[in-house]
Amino acid sequence: MAGKYDYLVVGAGLFGAVFAREAADAGKKVLIIDRRPHPAGNIYTEERDGIPIHRYGAHIFHTSDPEVWRYACRFADFNRFTNAPLARYRGRLYHLPFNMNTFYALWGTATPAEALARLEIQRREITGTPRNLEEQAIALVGRDVYETLIRGYTEKQWGRPCRDLPASIIRRLPVRLTWDNNYFNDLWQGIPREGYTRMVERMMSGIELRLDTAYAPEMRSLAEKVVYTGSVDSFFGCCLGSLEYRSLRFEEERYELPDFQGNAVINDTNAEVPYTRTIEHKHFVFDRPEVMKTEWTWITREYPLAWTEGAEPFYPVADERNTGLCARYRELAAEDPGLLFGGRLGLYRYLDMDDTIRAALDLARSELQQ
Ligand code: UDP
Repeated sequence: MAGKYDYLVVGAGLFGAVFAREAADAGKKVLIIDRRPHPAGNIYTEERDGIPIHRYGAHIFHTSDPEVWRYACRFADFNRFTNAPLARYRGRLYHLPFNMNTFYALWGTATPAEALARLEIQRREITGTPRNLEEQAIALVGRDVYETLIRGYTEKQWGRPCRDLPASIIRRLPVRLTWDNNYFNDLWQGIPREGYTRMVERMMSGIELRLDTAYAPEMRSLAEKVVYTGSVDSFFGCCLGSLEYRSLRFEEERYELPDFQGNAVINDTNAEVPYTRTIEHKHFVFDRPEVMKTEWTWITREYPLAWTEGAEPFYPVADERNTGLCARYRELAAEDPGLLFGGRLGLYRYLDMDDTIRAALDLARSELQQ
């Protein structure tokens, strides 16, 4: 049944905002709804005591896709933030990603050849194709790095032993024989100076947005098509079973100090420390002197946990069971050509922000040229 709108976009996060922008620019009538009281989904940032706070964890934009970079820059002025996180293990700090600084701290190896020789000896532990994250990690960086910087962090993050996790997760992390602490290999990287919320608001400008509005099946008839960015299983009332997600709990704390940790991100890789990382928000906007000079600071500690009803789902758990179940939900979705899914939860895929923009642009392109 044709409704008042061409598209009902469920979720005012990055995917929804990009798709809505493209549809509106193509002359479509769009309504965006979000059950939360604020826009921007999990990239939501809010100013608190003059400091932009990433409410749902650190979001650092990085991409090598020129179209995506140009697109993001239409809506935000990016600073030149470069993510160079540290990892703390039993009181000692190491540089990430795994590079000469890390190897020097671990082994005292001062040249690429020395470090490579150490790595090669340790990598030999794995023969054949790695079958899980533990084997993949050892094949990449050897047991010392695995035990110090990977095992505890990963097991906390995913809530299961590294041997029961897919190798693909760790392939995100670069290994370098240079002294380069830049976490990402991408061509472009940065953080919107005015925060992500402003960026997403600009994307949605002129488009009808209803916050505090949860999707209900009756709304299907409001629009010709629905673009749903919530979790795909919840859309179908979990009729085939629930997909598994990892969730996070954020503990925010204000300190009466100009600088708490001297860096935006410090990971805690010990299994005994219950959180995975501490972010200090002011460092994300290091080029804003009015923020850097405050005599106080806000930090957030990130505690991973299993997702249960009522919590926010953050990461899909892409093992065999979930991937198979997700495929069955996709089949269900395909029965209604007016129903489209997008975003990390809708696609049940570990999308970074640039992947999200790319996926939304691709969907818009294929949809709007029809
Ligand atoms: N990782 C790790 N040690 C670290 C940081 C990352 O072992 O100090 C591994 C871990 O397996 C994790 C993956 O790299 O699941 C991706 O981590 P990252 O923090 O980059 O993911 P994000 O949550 O930021 O997307």
